[in-house]
Amino acid sequence: MTPRFRAVKGTRDLFPPESDRWIEAERIARETFGSWGYGEVRTPVLEDTALFARSVGETTDIVHKEMYTFPDRKGRSLTMRPENTAGVVRALIENGLASGPTPLRLYYVGPQFRYERPQAGRYREFSQIGVELFGVEGPSGEAEVIEMLFAFLESLGFRDLSVSLNSVGTAETRASFGEALRAHVLPRAKAFGDDDRRKLADNPLRLFDSKDPAVRETLAEAPRTLDFLDDRSRLHHGEVQRLLTEAGIPHHDDPSLVRGLDYYTRTVFEVSSGDLGAQDAILGGGRYDGLVASLGGPSLPAVGFAIGEDRLLQVAPLTLPRRAFVIVLPQGTDDVADATRIAREVRVALPGGRVEVDLTARGLKKGMARASSLYAEADTRGFDGRAMLALFVGERERAAGAVTVKKLATGDQETIPVAELVRRLAAERSTR
Ligand code: AMP
Repeated sequence: MTPRFRAVKGTRDLFPPESDRWIEAERIARETFGSWGYGEVRTPVLEDTALFARSVGETTDIVHKEMYTFPDRKGRSLTMRPENTAGVVRALIENGLASGPTPLRLYYVGPQFRYERPQAGRYREFSQIGVELFGVEGPSGEAEVIEMLFAFLESLGFRDLSVSLNSVGTAETRASFGEALRAHVLPRAKAFGDDDRRKLADNPLRLFDSKDPAVRETLAEAPRTLDFLDDRSRLHHGEVQRLLTEAGIPHHDDPSLVRGLDYYTRTVFEVSSGDLGAQDAILGGGRYDGLVASLGGPSLPAVGFAIGEDRLLQVAPLTLPRRAFVIVLPQGTDDVADATRIAREVRVALPGGRVEVDLTARGLKKGMARASSLYAEADTRGFDGRAMLALFVGERERAAGAVTVKKLATGDQETIPVAELVRRLAAERSTR
């Protein structure tokens, strides 16, 4: 059947067991960040369009051509957030938190929207998990968020992690570096496309976002931001490196790391891992000391990162925690009430487990076919295969106040009183 309605281009639907992996990754994020003293902030998807032009930057690809911007019914220009930092900063200022006690430790999890060309791992609606630390001017800010980020990624099963670092210095560094970059690139720009020539004129740092091989080749020999740093930024960069080494975090300088958003100052970073291969980064972060003030708040230094959840889950070695699974199969419709009652008792004995009843009462054969296919997928679905059971409830069982218990792993089966089953499940659980 041809569907009458389709998901909007660049968006998608998630079902179990994939959505179970998302839930688990987000659970680990909340647990990790929570244990470091970070609390969750939730800001609206819709914001004033001007907020992003001001923060992310007029000349960035995001603002220039990727935003979902539309007038509302009163003609106000609204934008569906393309990233979450601007919204968080707006919220802090508006609610008076930007002038309150520091440090302020926040994280967010939620959908972002960019009108990009959909391709593997890139969507128009995608999700980010991000962290923002406000009020720490010194390099211990970067060290804390990067160490916490590593703890999170390691809990997801990533190994061989390493952070690429660069410093883009202050606004002055960016200006003088931008001029040097323009001077270097200009004589070689004939081979560039219109878009990259526009970047060269408007904001040459944006050329680092380009995927054109001609641009990349030119940039490989370009001046480096590290050569333009003022003394304090240079000192800061050295301290970040030292603190990371002290924390046992592998790191290296990557002078070509000039991230896509305009608001970064000093430190910018990305993380790579042996598990990620050559594909593009799953996350990016940095310091943005000037952003709060530029959006009308007090001078408040900040460090943060945003992880692309879609890419993260494509590559994370994450496995779901194993839980018990019981399917209750009534032989006919007359047995559904009994099956439901038994399921209720079993659920109490198996907190965190999954206990489902075949409400369609299609008979044992079809019921077992479903049970077997779930057993075959135990690993991806996060079931403990050895603890997977099918319970048969039919006339014979009903007469005896019993239930037939079949172990899906071995096919062994026996008929026992329901109370005995519940007692055994509870006892097994306590030894597990
Ligand atoms: P950014 O906010 O551009 O620094 O991106 C941070 C992370 O978000 C990237 O490393 C990607 O993993 C992810 N990301 C950005 N744009 C998209 C997109 N269109 N689809 C999926 N993930 C994205």
